[in-house]
Amino acid sequence: MAAAPIIVWFRQDLRLHDHAALAAAVAAGAPVVPVYVFDEESPGKWMPGAASRWWLHESLKSLDTSLRKRGSHLVLARGPAPAVLADLARETGARAIYWSRGYEPWAVRLERALYRTLEGVGVRCRRFSGSLLFEPEDIKSGVGEPYKVFTPFYKACLNAAQSVQLHKAIGSMPRVPDRIESDALESWELQPKNPDWAGGISAAWTPGEAGANARLDALAGGLLKGYRTNRDLPGIDGTSRLSPHLHFGEISPRQVWNAVVNAADAKGGSLDADSESFLRELIWREFSHHLLFHWMHFPEKPFRHEFTRFPWDNDPRLLAAWQQGRTGYPIIDAGMRELWTTGWMHNRVRMIVASFLVKHLLIPWQDGARWFWDTLVDADLANNSASWQWVAGCGADAAPYFRIFNPVLQGKKFDPDGLYVKAWVPELAKMPLARIHDPWKAKAQILEKARVKIGETYPAPIVALDAGRKRALEAYEVLKEPAD
Ligand SMILES: Cc1cc2nc3c(=O)[nH]c(=O)nc-3n(C[C@H](O)[C@H](O)[C@H](O)COP(=O)(O)OP(=O)(O)OC[C@H]3O[C@@H](n4cnc5c(N)ncnc54)[C@H](O)[C@@H]3O)c2cc1C
Repeated sequence: MAAAPIIVWFRQDLRLHDHAALAAAVAAGAPVVPVYVFDEESPGKWMPGAASRWWLHESLKSLDTSLRKRGSHLVLARGPAPAVLADLARETGARAIYWSRGYEPWAVRLERALYRTLEGVGVRCRRFSGSLLFEPEDIKSGVGEPYKVFTPFYKACLNAAQSVQLHKAIGSMPRVPDRIESDALESWELQPKNPDWAGGISAAWTPGEAGANARLDALAGGLLKGYRTNRDLPGIDGTSRLSPHLHFGEISPRQVWNAVVNAADAKGGSLDADSESFLRELIWREFSHHLLFHWMHFPEKPFRHEFTRFPWDNDPRLLAAWQQGRTGYPIIDAGMRELWTTGWMHNRVRMIVASFLVKHLLIPWQDGARWFWDTLVDADLANNSASWQWVAGCGADAAPYFRIFNPVLQGKKFDPDGLYVKAWVPELAKMPLARIHDPWKAKAQILEKARVKIGETYPAPIVALDAGRKRALEAYEVLKEPAD
């Protein structure tokens, strides 16, 4: 008798290489039914934002093409995952479903529901790890508690990190029976039509496993050299840009980790400072997931409880100016416009714009995180929530609230040639370098020569830096008062 099929439920693991669930299903020798479920119910308010939906469409297309090259294809189905997967198991006669584990609070709840629904009807559920280097339960402090501070977490990860054996790429796969129906990807309307605002995103990225591997090759092939310094300079291509690929699982963190370690081995030596600095960022990604997994309220509530009393000021006019990149501070406007155009923003600039929003404008970090959620192609509940809380000073092991970035000084330090500002704020392209980060201070004849009219061709600053800083520090004082 033919073996019953195994369903492989793809989620944030849209790849064929180093995919434990897929490798196990193929190794079992049974027919494999690969499926992606577009579930608009389970994530609740954390449905992917507009930029992520654009990426998801492209990534699913790419995964389907890769599967077709191996004789299979991706089945697309829409609806709540437990019901859809139970129906598919009935239809195909599958006796098992394999998937890679998720860590978002809604994903954890969904997996519990799946076990109940599917095992109840005799379908075996097997969950594999696929998105992280370490499972959040496996990294514990000496007393068996989750970590709240990065450095000991980092050291624990380094101690646990060994050369990992990657799962082999799968070869050919059996055909999915014709009777299994699949939605047309276009019918999910993940991408914008009228208007199609995604031209800049499409020009900037190649979603899918091949695009991810090309970025990894660039990293191992030279981009890593100088990373420790270059990673702070938004005007150059100095970081991996792997974040959306990692978020959608087009490449696994184990593949990235191994590539960096192997590149060091090939040079016959131990890790250099650039490689170490890069791997440290991968561990920040682990730390964010560790925090989200253990403190599930992280996306909504401050980790440091006293911040629930923080006297935020919700000025929609200021929020809109920030979102549109019209604050009058060039480095901030450049970042917000890079985000809007390409769906991505350089990490240093993410920190500067986030600090400006929560400190100079006193707007709650949740509003900034929401905007990022909708506009980033790498929007990731763990990384986004943990990073916003880190900047706002209310997170685990966060930057102190009273450390307030000055956007002009940050611009001068990290965009010293003004390359980044000139690329994203073209109306300042003719400003002399000395005033590119604070154009409102330029003399009238310099502004005239650069064809800049403050308040007309480029906005005047929406808040004075000194006044904004003072207001932020006064607001912070409230936290020092005893709670009622
Ligand atoms: C306010 C704010 C919001 C952010 N929101 C997100 C988000 O939604 N999704 C997201 O992936 N990253 C987020 N980050 C973290 C970081 O900015 C991006 O991961 C990084 O810019 C991606 O570029 P890269 O791939 O070239 O990074 P690289 O420097 O090449 O780093 C390699 C990988 O390490 C991880 N990484 C790097 N920095 C961090 C970090 N600080 N925290 C966690 N992981 C990190 C990413 O997966 C990244 O791809 C946010 C940072 C800030 C300050």
